[in-house]
Amino acid sequence: GDNPFEAMPWFGMDIGGSLCKLVYFEPKDTTKDELESEIEVLKNIRRYLTKNSAYGKTGHRDTHLQMDNVVIRGRKGTLHFIRFPTSEMGNFLALARMKGMANLVTTVCATGGGAYKFEENFIREVNMKLAKFDEFDSLIKGMHYIEAQNSDECYYWANPTDETRCAKVNYDFSNPYPFLIVNIGSGVSVLSVNGPNNYKRVSGTSIGGGTFLGLCCLLTGCNSFEEAIELATGGDHTHVDKLVRDIYGGDYERFGLPGDLVASSFGQMNSRDRRSKVSREDLAKATLVTITNNIGSIARMCAQQEKIDRVLFIGNFLRVNPIAMKLLAYAMDYWSKGTMKALFLEHEGYFGAVGCLLQFNE
Ligand code: ADP
Repeated sequence: GDNPFEAMPWFGMDIGGSLCKLVYFEPKDTTKDELESEIEVLKNIRRYLTKNSAYGKTGHRDTHLQMDNVVIRGRKGTLHFIRFPTSEMGNFLALARMKGMANLVTTVCATGGGAYKFEENFIREVNMKLAKFDEFDSLIKGMHYIEAQNSDECYYWANPTDETRCAKVNYDFSNPYPFLIVNIGSGVSVLSVNGPNNYKRVSGTSIGGGTFLGLCCLLTGCNSFEEAIELATGGDHTHVDKLVRDIYGGDYERFGLPGDLVASSFGQMNSRDRRSKVSREDLAKATLVTITNNIGSIARMCAQQEKIDRVLFIGNFLRVNPIAMKLLAYAMDYWSKGTMKALFLEHEGYFGAVGCLLQFNE
């Protein structure tokens, strides 16, 4: 067609500080005519993306998140979710070029800081123009879209501190306003959402997922997020932190502070003797607990300030990270005396990418 985008596979990209999220819409209602007139390059790209789940050394398709029979701009098809480290952008562009992308005159929807940072590289290396969209507009649009398409999207953790009774429970988010979004990526942004087109960014902190991973690598010598989480799973943060009971010998009853509450994160690590006894696992766990509780505390204060009781935690920091989700669930409930609820979404890190794909031609 005249619109070069029509000939283009449908992509939405969210190029973040740590990870590049790529959402690909594969139309499944293609007519015979369409298939026959589709150019070879596009066929190959579709085959390559949908037949594999790993791309190069660092690209992954999250097959468990795939969504079939979704409708976008009147077309029915499948949404695929792909991610790779933003540091691999050079290799990604080289691969896209090798697959023939540069021979198409195309526009791709993009959001996140990388949509600005890498704009020239996309033009120069793969002849692709970026249609840029704001990351928070995209995040919220993507979130509402996915939530409406997938009845199992939203959940909370019941009994988060009880190993045996703890469980994910589906949550009906069809009547959402007002709510708070806490997006935990490399850094953290907090948005207060009052209606479909009514939100503001109320707060943020630079102490986020990137901080967890950076500190964990420094302290344990680990080299990936997955490794950091695995270490944390086997660790005990009470070997690292100073607890209320380490100071009081028990609870601080007058102000209702239980003995096993962290009074000082990493507060034991001034002691040479204690340092010689902690494991890498303990250090990873303490780092995870420190970062997560700090975010939980900021989230709770923002919710209080905004008079909001439902807090939606998203972002890739929560990927394969039940420890952090349960901690947030417990902390929100405990410190709000049961008035606030922590909610989570299955496609936690992909809403920006979905949202910018939706906005094209809107
Ligand atoms: P951004 O847009 O800033 O890249 P994301 O929502 O993608 O933010 O989250 C990035 C964070 O997710 C990282 O800081 C890290 O804590 C966590 N993370 C989860 N999986 C990975 C991974 N495979 N590689 C790197 N970081 C990961």
